[in-house]
Amino acid sequence: MRRLETDILILGSGGAGLFAALHAHQTDPTASITVAVKGLLGKCGCTRMVQGGYNVALAQGDSVERHFMDTIDGGKWLPDQDLAWTLVTKAVERIHELENELGCFFDRNPDGTIHQKAFAGQTFDRTVHKGDLTGIEIINRLAEQVWSRGIARLEEHRAVDLIKTADGSRIAGVLMIDIRTGEFVFVRAKAVLLATGGGPTMYRFHTPSGDKSCDGLAMALRAGLSLRDMEMVQFHPTGLLAGAHTRMTGTVLEEGLRGAGGYLLNGAGKRFMHDHDPRGERATRDVVSRSMFREMREGRTSPNGGLFIEMGHLGPENVRKQFKGMVERCSDCGFDLAGGRVEVVPTAHYMMGGVVFGADCTTELPGLFAAGEDTGGVHGANRLGGNGVANSTVFGGIAGETMAAWVRRQDPSPPDEAAIADSIGEHEAPFHLPPGDLGAIREALYACMWEDVGILRDGQGLARGLATLDALDARLARTGVADASRVFDLTWHDWLNLKSLIAVSRVIAAAALAREDSRGAHFREDFPEAGPLAASTYSVVRQAGERLELSQRAVAFTRVAPGQTLIE
Ligand SMILES: Cc1cc2nc3c(=O)[nH]c(=O)nc-3n(C[C@H](O)[C@H](O)[C@H](O)COP(=O)(O)OP(=O)(O)OC[C@H]3O[C@@H](n4cnc5c(N)ncnc54)[C@H](O)[C@@H]3O)c2cc1C
Repeated sequence: MRRLETDILILGSGGAGLFAALHAHQTDPTASITVAVKGLLGKCGCTRMVQGGYNVALAQGDSVERHFMDTIDGGKWLPDQDLAWTLVTKAVERIHELENELGCFFDRNPDGTIHQKAFAGQTFDRTVHKGDLTGIEIINRLAEQVWSRGIARLEEHRAVDLIKTADGSRIAGVLMIDIRTGEFVFVRAKAVLLATGGGPTMYRFHTPSGDKSCDGLAMALRAGLSLRDMEMVQFHPTGLLAGAHTRMTGTVLEEGLRGAGGYLLNGAGKRFMHDHDPRGERATRDVVSRSMFREMREGRTSPNGGLFIEMGHLGPENVRKQFKGMVERCSDCGFDLAGGRVEVVPTAHYMMGGVVFGADCTTELPGLFAAGEDTGGVHGANRLGGNGVANSTVFGGIAGETMAAWVRRQDPSPPDEAAIADSIGEHEAPFHLPPGDLGAIREALYACMWEDVGILRDGQGLARGLATLDALDARLARTGVADASRVFDLTWHDWLNLKSLIAVSRVIAAAALAREDSRGAHFREDFPEAGPLAASTYSVVRQAGERLELSQRAVAFTRVAPGQTLIE
């Protein structure tokens, strides 16, 4: 095992990880900072995939109070209000930093002000963007700045366990696997940032990048940390459905298609959304996804088992002009979006839940910090489109500052060597077992999460889902991988991905079973009512040995209570 040492170790190079690196360096240029990432820095994760844009209250007539109220309403009153307030206020600072210090070009109005577009669920047009490739602009500029500061990089290094000191009182570092060589690497650090970006890739159809398999959340669980709001998984209604042979299946066809007047049709060619909601196709993501799922469950499906989106009535030329990228994406998969019908399916997009953390990005474990999609509490029961990248960049920056201040006061602590040895043993376990069919386990996981822990839930299905997940965990524990070369051993990493995904899926299912009301993204057919907002609770799960401990905690309405508003 290789050993390295750094003051600050950042796991993940999305908006959260890279902002943390920059702000840590800015706060203390003498601190040694290392970014460790499963993929290549600047080329992986979901921040790069952001299409729509970044929510921030900039324009005249808008206000941080309005952005805050939209976030609280959208989150169905479950967000931690201090976290949400930090999000909306710091987003203003962060967008100026992105433009003026990091060099991002965002689209502008003819008068030179930043153009902000409409996004669902918001009472003001506040989404800053660069065409429909906003994430590439943000990540490219961030990566350049990180490179230029000489911040150390461990690319294609997969974090596998958070290692504490022998007395368990704080974090001492992180055990990783160097994917290129297959060797274990222990990085000792005074501060560690969890910024691996969650990612609900355990569902049959999903949008996040392939490098995301909930590793950060699984590591946090094993380290005994609490996760909140884990039942809240957001589905995007229009994932492309182009058959099982292509990775394009599940990827997002942007929300603007429905916004512009696109029709959703069932397999018989009938528009169905008005049977479910008076807003039709323009209803919110959760409502549209549920309606689509119902239609599919009734068997009124397209050839690949989904539904159709149709845009031709808006004029094919107009569609080609307005949605160039989407038209090309569909054409690559054999569909004519401008003039014909495209098969679509709801697709798992974002996890509102994650590690319990504070507005300064501290967690329960001293020395461990968290930011971005690995955290819970900012969005409550639903995330507004455009609040995701704001979340990761706002809190990533804060985490960098907090960590730089923290490491000044700390000496490095020796790790629990027995814990490192145990972890290596567990991660090498599949080499000592007869190789088996990981693909079959993955398919069974997809089916279980899609059918029993997905868009429409009930107690019976969730209990069945939990039993299936336990069985899959046991099946994986009996399934090995060939012990050949460990250099880029993607079968081994697939095994590790499944391990993380099953662990986190169990938490989603358990939290969903415990929540007997329907809020935002979580819908129980056996408990369809939301319940009184004033008595709102959020769920917290932690792992105690093999068991999951669940509790419901009252939401503290620290800034505004249901029925009130901050808008003048
Ligand atoms: C297609 C798509 C479109 C989106 N559009 C929008 C939008 O328009 N507006 C918006 O606000 N949000 C959008 N989102 C959501 C947004 O992308 C995320 O909320 C946000 O970017 C997450 O940032 P992050 O830094 O937490 O994680 P990410 O950017 O996902 O980065 C995670 C990083 O962790 C690394 N990693 C993972 N596991 C490990 C491990 N074990 N060890 C080391 N490194 C690891 C990954 O390689 C990656 O570098 C979109 C998401 C998708 C998928």
